[in-house]
Amino acid sequence: MSEATVVKPDLDFVKEVIAAGGESLKKCYQCATCSVVCNVTPDENPFPRKEMVWAQWGLKEKFQGNPDVWLCHQCNDCTAYCPRGAKPGEVLGAIRKQAIKQYSAPAALVDIVNNKKLLPLIFIVPAVLLALLLSVAGTFGIHEGEVVYSKFASILFLQVVFTPALIFGLAVGVLGVKKFWDDMKKANNVQSGDLKASIIATAKDIAGHQKFKTCDVSGDRYTSHLLVFYSFVALGIATALGVLYIDILGLESPFGFGYGTPVKLFGLIGAVAILAGTILMMSSRFKNEEKLGAGSYYDWLLIGIVGTVGLSGALSWLLRLGGAASVAYPVYFIHLVAVFSLFIYLPYSKLAHLFYRSAAMCFNKYSGREAQSQGAGQS
Ligand code: SF4
Ligand code: SF4
Repeated sequence: MSEATVVKPDLDFVKEVIAAGGESLKKCYQCATCSVVCNVTPDENPFPRKEMVWAQWGLKEKFQGNPDVWLCHQCNDCTAYCPRGAKPGEVLGAIRKQAIKQYSAPAALVDIVNNKKLLPLIFIVPAVLLALLLSVAGTFGIHEGEVVYSKFASILFLQVVFTPALIFGLAVGVLGVKKFWDDMKKANNVQSGDLKASIIATAKDIAGHQKFKTCDVSGDRYTSHLLVFYSFVALGIATALGVLYIDILGLESPFGFGYGTPVKLFGLIGAVAILAGTILMMSSRFKNEEKLGAGSYYDWLLIGIVGTVGLSGALSWLLRLGGAASVAYPVYFIHLVAVFSLFIYLPYSKLAHLFYRSAAMCFNKYSGREAQSQGAGQS
């Protein structure tokens, strides 16, 4: 006679998932429509139905090293077709937030960053810190004459303050991925695989946004996510070129070379793409609100930070051209605060999916599961 399995629910975990945006969780009656309509899930052991059951039952340990919650691209096709309005796309988003808390240390920062009651605080703290540092540097304030932002925040200031902030965000994310990777190997009993080939194949998938292309109901997410993704790439290239000009070639100001310089070109492409992508993301959420929901605070916080970076960056540029110093410097300060927040909250906000989704996609290839699924699909 087989032994009965004792289910030990973690009720705190259920409460946390509900509080994080998964309030519709209890409506699920496990019909599996969601797993059938999901175009992203592998055929073998598909999501998100099983995750809905585990979350309902409070089986927190099942999510330890689970790549599937990250393979989900939150396209919400499942939510649109769920006959019970259980919103599995939102529930998986809430579970991902719990995973970020598990891997991005210190975990308390995930709660602080994603608590809407603390929204003013998460911007006031970086704003006060930057204002203090700029005051110490003696450059905080409106400067007379032509608008030159390096009078407000010198290149040295940007290097000394923003580079460590970015390194901090990246380091916390990379350490979290290391723990997540080990957990995935353990939970899925995977000893070895072709890491180099998996990384290259994952990079190709991400570059082409192949998974987003398969979304049905919110197909416009493909375009908006692609625009925001490549805006980061363009802005990263502009920054790298700035470092090359100033730090490596020792040129004083690459920004004085005229509009045709690559730094400016990539900066402009990045600014236009980030604005267009954010506007498209917002309009898609409002357009599909009835079917899919408008998204949680956790989703909107990221859209808000990214949108502020884009909008304040573009306005800073226009105000500088217009010579409106009294508005230009305050707007530039907002831009600096938004960029600083983006860097330091990188591993604690929804942006942490950069690390964990990439790792899960890579693991799916490394473990051979994706190849198995594709083989099964072709047979
Ligand atoms: S989330 Fe909805 S579609 Fe999926 S199993 Fe539950 S009731 Fe069915
Ligand atoms: S949100 Fe999209 S990717 Fe995620 S489980 Fe639902 S259908 Fe699949």
